[in-house]
Amino acid sequence: MPPSDARLENPPRSDAERGADLVDLLERAARIARDFVAREHRPVDPADRDPDRLRARLDLELGAAGRDGARVLAELETLLAATPSSSSWRFVNQLFGGREPIATVAEMLAVLPNVSMYTFKAAGAQILVELELVRHMAAKLGLDGAEGAFLPGGSLANLVALLVARDTAEPQARDHGVTPGRFTLYTSEEGHYSLPKNAGILGLGRDAVRGIPVDGAGRMRVAALAVALDRDRAAGRTPLVVNATAGTTVRGAFDPLRPIAELAHAAGAWLHVDGAFGATLALSSAGRALVDGIELADSVSWDPHKMMGVPLQSSLLLVARPGVLAASLDERADYLFQLHGDELNPGHRSLQCGRRNDALKLWAAWRRLGDDGWEARVGRQLELARLAAAKIDADPELELLEPPPSINVCFVARGVASDAVCDRLDHDGRLEIGWGDVAGRRAIRLVCVNPELDGRDLDAILDEVKRAARGLR
Ligand SMILES: *Cc1c(COP(=O)(O)O)cnc(C)c1O
Repeated sequence: MPPSDARLENPPRSDAERGADLVDLLERAARIARDFVAREHRPVDPADRDPDRLRARLDLELGAAGRDGARVLAELETLLAATPSSSSWRFVNQLFGGREPIATVAEMLAVLPNVSMYTFKAAGAQILVELELVRHMAAKLGLDGAEGAFLPGGSLANLVALLVARDTAEPQARDHGVTPGRFTLYTSEEGHYSLPKNAGILGLGRDAVRGIPVDGAGRMRVAALAVALDRDRAAGRTPLVVNATAGTTVRGAFDPLRPIAELAHAAGAWLHVDGAFGATLALSSAGRALVDGIELADSVSWDPHKMMGVPLQSSLLLVARPGVLAASLDERADYLFQLHGDELNPGHRSLQCGRRNDALKLWAAWRRLGDDGWEARVGRQLELARLAAAKIDADPELELLEPPPSINVCFVARGVASDAVCDRLDHDGRLEIGWGDVAGRRAIRLVCVNPELDGRDLDAILDEVKRAARGLR
């Protein structure tokens, strides 16, 4: 007999006993959830919008002594109550907001098995769920047969898109790097900041990124793209990627994908569509025209955690030609990849090693809504934006800056700086709303992404804005 430690040899607990602590905490957590959603629409205590006062009020310090689970749970409840909820009508600050309840619950359940999405051996059924999403979502964009990877956000989906474009154009790049100044990239001046950031990360250089001017509605000027491509080619450079944005972050504008695709491909460049925000419009007959031509893309980023009401994070990169992801990302790892073919082991196509399950919540929402439910949900978001624009346009205290290209409504409170209004609303805990620049004017950006909102909520939001503006005038 090997030597034994009496404490470890005690009679084993039954399976139910082993899980009892978790089940007990979960039951109490359900009560916390009930109280949280009952209160999430209230204004936030202004003291909690001040980091110093908040730190002083909360006891966050970690130290040597532990506490019992019930006590920690009570602390978690306090912390939640001091956190803005993006499902409140008072939260229109971001490109996400509101929740599909089944997706929230599926996210909570996904952590029970707590598996990593690199292999079928580790994650089993969850891998099949993810593959089905990739298949169906690709088909929805007209990219049947595309391969896909779930990534921690659209910025990283855009990163992997640039990576595979680089390695497709220059297969030696993965091993030897790239020649400085050889490749150029194109994106509209209102495209997402991840493009230059990613060019820096990949060694392509931020200087390689050409910012293409936009038209009066915030869309990339196709003629200006043509000039930039010609100029670089004449100078001996190789256009690597044209990044077209489907849904710009501030204005919600859509670059004209079809003519951009034609130019990009004629120049030998990879067409990436940054649809982190707006690819979801492909699910709606009312929005489909805005993404016309998306099926011509070599790759598309798509964030279900924005318009689809799925909890952060859920972000998909689709690549039209299968095999390209593994060509850039696969490594040998005998200790990991031990069973099944490559298709069932997404780790071969992944930026990450350990990877959380971002698929289950989206699959659950899709089962709940079906394609028809997404159609209705997106239609409601577009209608809300139109209604908000009409209310603003009819209000003498407000000025609408442009008809909303999709679900972002940009406006000003007359006679007051937009950033000052947004800061005041945050300071007072009344409303989380952001500002951005639209054709040289600083605008308040109301994102109509939460389909739970109705006309009365829009009135309440605009009343908060007007009250803050009056206080500042
Ligand atoms: C939000 C957004 C991103 C970044 O996505 P994250 O998921 O926040 O990383 C990229 N591009 C566009 C156009 C976006 O709106």
